[in-house]
Amino acid sequence: MLSRTALIYLSRHEGLKDFAARFSLFKRLTTRFVAGENIDEAIAAIRELNHEGCSASFDHLNESVANAAEADEEVKEYLQILRQIDETGINSNVSIKLTQFGLELDPELAYKNARAVVAEAASRGNFCRVDMEASAVTQKTIDIFKRLRAEFELNDVGIVLQSYLRRTYADAEALVKLPARIRICKGAYNEPAEVAFPDKKDVDENYVRVMQLLLASGTYHGIATHDPKMIDATIEFSEREGIPKEAFEFQMLYGIRRDLQRQLAKDGYNMRVYVPYGKHWYPYFMRRLAERPANIWFVLKNTLKG
Ligand SMILES: Cc1cc2nc3c(=O)[nH]c(=O)nc-3n(C[C@H](O)[C@H](O)[C@H](O)COP(=O)(O)OP(=O)(O)OC[C@H]3O[C@@H](n4cnc5c(N)ncnc54)[C@H](O)[C@@H]3O)c2cc1C
Repeated sequence: MLSRTALIYLSRHEGLKDFAARFSLFKRLTTRFVAGENIDEAIAAIRELNHEGCSASFDHLNESVANAAEADEEVKEYLQILRQIDETGINSNVSIKLTQFGLELDPELAYKNARAVVAEAASRGNFCRVDMEASAVTQKTIDIFKRLRAEFELNDVGIVLQSYLRRTYADAEALVKLPARIRICKGAYNEPAEVAFPDKKDVDENYVRVMQLLLASGTYHGIATHDPKMIDATIEFSEREGIPKEAFEFQMLYGIRRDLQRQLAKDGYNMRVYVPYGKHWYPYFMRRLAERPANIWFVLKNTLKG
């Protein structure tokens, strides 16, 4: 069985996608986690989610662009998404990655590009979430987010923190003081033990600590997880502290634990589904397999069944 580390390693070698994508089987595997290759397919998926009582967040898949022109194309794509959200009336915000806007080429370029998208979202009364990527860019991502947050309102732009990072509790304490809207997740990259807890138990404990800090802060945050233990801890804490259901939202990824997504929405919780789409689905897809290598067999089994 391929390990998590091996799958994350493979996720960074997009050249393999061209090889893998020749097999229609592999292509079909991706449709479980990726809503399609273009905006219209993603909109159709979001309409269905809205119908089930869930809101959404668009994610155009294209990490680590190679040059400024590609980053500019990403900005255009997001401006188009924001326009189409308004035109179609779907319930969705957007999530961006700063490497998609050129962070690895020039942080100033990434800031300007992200600023253009946040400004558009703000002018439309929508919201832009800055995703968190590998630890090599954590500080740069927080620095750019703080500049954006200084220029825009609380409900215009938010950030993500990962409970596997040792630094995250301190980051959460500092960011809630701004205040800032935070999505807490466990973290999806391969990180060394110096920066991230190697044991799942510590990642989960830290998740619960950060979740409690966020919920107690009085700001509207996102609790992103498919883990029933984290969800139960959130519900238990909010009920104990008298925090109303409308004061936060649960978030999950497209195609993962749909049963739980529907159940939480039915129980009156705000439920947002992160909807990735685009041609560059390979690294995202491989990270999802890495989270649960058993998915390879699940998908293969279902694909073979036809
Ligand atoms: C809305 C959202 C946004 C995210 N944004 C970021 C981000 O900006 N940066 C970042 O590093 N990470 C991000 N992630 C990914 C996150 O860090 C985790 O890698 C991912 O959510 C798995 O962790 P978990 O909390 O579900 O718990 P886990 O302990 O990994 O899983 C708990 C249970 O959930 C189910 N499950 C989890 N993953 C899968 C899967 N792939 N397939 C099938 N079942 C699964 C299984 O039943 C599993 O037992 C995001 C996740 C979500 C939900």
